[in-house]
Amino acid sequence: MDMYEKLAILAEAAKYDASCSSSGNGRSSSEGTIGAATPTGCCHSFTADGRCISLLKILMSNACVYDCKYCISRRSNDFPRATFTPREIAELTIEFYRRNYIEGLFLSSAVVGTPDWTMEHMIEALRILREEYGFAGYIHAKAIPGANPILTHRLGLLADRVSVNIELPSEKSLVSLAPDKTKHNILEPMGLIKTGIEENCEDIVKYRHTPKFVPAGQSTQMIIGASPETDYHILHLTESLYKKYGLKRVYYSAYVPLQEDSLLPSLDTRPPLLREHRLYQADWLLRFYGFEASEIIDPKRPMLHPEVDPKCSWAVNHLDDFPVEVNTADYEMLLRVPGIGVKGAKRIIRARRSQKLDFDSLKRLGIVLKRAKFFITCGGKTLQRLPETTESMLWAITSPNRIGGFTDYGMEQLSLFEPMLIKEASFECLTGEF
Ligand code: SF4
Repeated sequence: MDMYEKLAILAEAAKYDASCSSSGNGRSSSEGTIGAATPTGCCHSFTADGRCISLLKILMSNACVYDCKYCISRRSNDFPRATFTPREIAELTIEFYRRNYIEGLFLSSAVVGTPDWTMEHMIEALRILREEYGFAGYIHAKAIPGANPILTHRLGLLADRVSVNIELPSEKSLVSLAPDKTKHNILEPMGLIKTGIEENCEDIVKYRHTPKFVPAGQSTQMIIGASPETDYHILHLTESLYKKYGLKRVYYSAYVPLQEDSLLPSLDTRPPLLREHRLYQADWLLRFYGFEASEIIDPKRPMLHPEVDPKCSWAVNHLDDFPVEVNTADYEMLLRVPGIGVKGAKRIIRARRSQKLDFDSLKRLGIVLKRAKFFITCGGKTLQRLPETTESMLWAITSPNRIGGFTDYGMEQLSLFEPMLIKEASFECLTGEF
């Protein structure tokens, strides 16, 4: 099998990893056009400074000895298998880089033989790239749970970002759906990477030439909808992962049914994309808006509201805290107003030092009043009278979008994918501005 046949198999297998965007597009070039979007391995990701970069996204191998029930590469599947050599990975990356297709590499792998064997070969691929080819571009590598800690450390010295996938939101689901994996094997390398990053930050201050260890931080990925955990459970787990392991990102991946198994949702179940979207929104609230998981979600209603984003949902359940006077409210309270994001709150704080703000000045500052109007006053004046009950507020906010229900919650999914909302939803996903 030549390198490009392997690439077709291994890039296809890598697309189910959500920690960097998938390469699912298959548009080819034709006469009079320029460029082609083939399904072989290029995807986009965002660097720490917000730049969008294209990555070669591949598995080193899909010949897995594990048997995770939700995975296309599991050993019991009859499926074409391929394994790159470390040199092939390095050469492919350099070749793509020189042709200006990509700016970096996202490398993951199935478990070939043992976790140690797999990690050693991934490390060798990165060593060739860094030391022999002098490649200084971005590398995101997956650490293999269960590998020797020394190997995790060596991987961290070669990659910019390392991730260890938590896969399923509870130990019980891990035991039933990924019987070869253990909670300990997943959390141990996360802890090692966290300690390594902290020690490296101190060493860099003391010794100028200290090599960097995982400079872009670590992340993880969780599959949503393959197992029965609620959003309440998932958000509390996310919060503890951020606090305990200092993760940069938790990625959520809506489960795509690919295998028939009595323990998994049936093959005709649609991926819970809206649920994934709401979890990403809640995740932004945890990371940038000062919310605790216990404020966003209640054990009595353990799923995020399908029709409004989690910040709106919090606000309609705390009507006593509103309306907020934009000329006097503190930064933390402004951040809690639906429609005012991090940038908007900062602009308001800056602008009101020199002038009293009214609704026109808010518009000029780029504040989206469509939602904010229900929750704010400017100089004591309201633009829209605050509905008095939670139900009437919810109705007022959602009525322009009330076209249908939502698949994930037993009704038909419509409003997220209505044309007028696509732009808004995509914008929120990218910027986290609610
Ligand atoms: S370890 Fe599990 S999830 Fe990873 S490739 Fe193997 S079967 Fe798939």
